[in-house]
Amino acid sequence: MTENALTFRDVSAGYKHRKVLDRVSFSLQAGEFVSLIGPNGSGKSTLLKTAAAFIKPHGGRVELFGRDVARLAPRERAALLGIVPQKLESPMAFTVEQIVTNGRVASMGLLGSVSSGDCDLVERAMIYTDVLGMRDRFFGELSGGEQQRVALAMVLAQEPKLIMLDESISHLDINHRNEVLQILLKLNREEQLTILLVSHDLSLSAAISDRLLLMQDGALKAAGIPQDVLRADLLSSVYNCDLQVRQDPYTGALQVSGPLEGQQRSPKTGCRVHVIAGGGSGIELFRRLLLEGHRVTAGVLNLLDSDAEAARALNIESVFDQPFSPIATATLEKAKRLSREADAVIVSHVPFGTGNLVNLDLAAEALKLGRRVYIATGIAGRDYTSGKQATAKVESLMKAGAVCWESLHELLAALHEQKTH
Ligand code: ADP
Ligand code: MG
Repeated sequence: MTENALTFRDVSAGYKHRKVLDRVSFSLQAGEFVSLIGPNGSGKSTLLKTAAAFIKPHGGRVELFGRDVARLAPRERAALLGIVPQKLESPMAFTVEQIVTNGRVASMGLLGSVSSGDCDLVERAMIYTDVLGMRDRFFGELSGGEQQRVALAMVLAQEPKLIMLDESISHLDINHRNEVLQILLKLNREEQLTILLVSHDLSLSAAISDRLLLMQDGALKAAGIPQDVLRADLLSSVYNCDLQVRQDPYTGALQVSGPLEGQQRSPKTGCRVHVIAGGGSGIELFRRLLLEGHRVTAGVLNLLDSDAEAARALNIESVFDQPFSPIATATLEKAKRLSREADAVIVSHVPFGTGNLVNLDLAAEALKLGRRVYIATGIAGRDYTSGKQATAKVESLMKAGAVCWESLHELLAALHEQKTH
């Protein structure tokens, strides 16, 4: 039997002078991705606040993973449930990194000591949500969309089993909205994280969700798979306007009176890629490759390099070498083993010196073995070896069939192409 992540049993709740939820009953199964939809004021945020015990119901009972939410200690609750609220009432004088670390503290109850494992979780959450670059900035000085991503990073660092997001994606630009959805889908698929997403984008919700919950006037009007809930007559009455629902004949995607949304809940199987990076050139590359569903290995990386730190935080299998010394033969062999198992080897915009030059031999060997090799453009400007040895090596790699890449977008498209052919 599957476990219930969240159960509402006949819950009535509201505010001092306003009754909102009226005998609401439903449950979310552990591992489900569910979207909560409904017009403004229908009670979606109130439902989330009640689930998180910010509001005490005056009737019925709320259970989180089988336990009465009213009886959970705050720390127990934080370990089960993370909420990215619609409006953030966070102390403005904290830096981004302090706020994300707070997520860790909320569920672990750290007493002044943050372990290296906690640091990695915080780092990983910041990388995934693309807020690493603003780690030292004050939360209060960020834009609304940036604040939403920080709030998500905090909740990711908290590592709850259920995440609820209240219209968090509506404030994001198109690129970051996509990325946040990719993070959520990835965690949902790979870690069986349960997601409850409040969203006004009905077509998008239908494409990415297992089920939809539709609210009207504080009651659950419908619940079920997207096809059953997105019915023109039902939506038109709930939203009080004329809505049409069409199904794309090719993709099966449901479309509610707007342009077709591209997101599909299709399980992506990515490539296995080995990355040669360093000097910070790998962080964005790692992040995007992982989000796209690729399996990533890396090395040889210098142990003190920021890319090494990122690789560790992201659980990327990597080969490390000692700083200030040339790469040892045995170490290079280990990295070669990883690249042999990969479909492709990617060379980032990494500067080359005598210390890491042998990493290009690794790419050469992979190419000989029939692997695709993608090399970032502009090697001459990053070649610090005497006699421009890296440039020469790259030139012979290109002659032997390596492909150059400039933008991440281009590289990801090439990998996608490689996978589908
Ligand atoms: P939704 O999130 O679906 O837009 P809400 O749950 O925020 O809806 O609001 C449901 C109803 O409760 C609305 O009529 C709203 O005006 C009212 N409401 C929300 N917050 C409060 C509050 N703090 N005090 C009193 N009424 C509130
Ligand atoms: Mg709301």
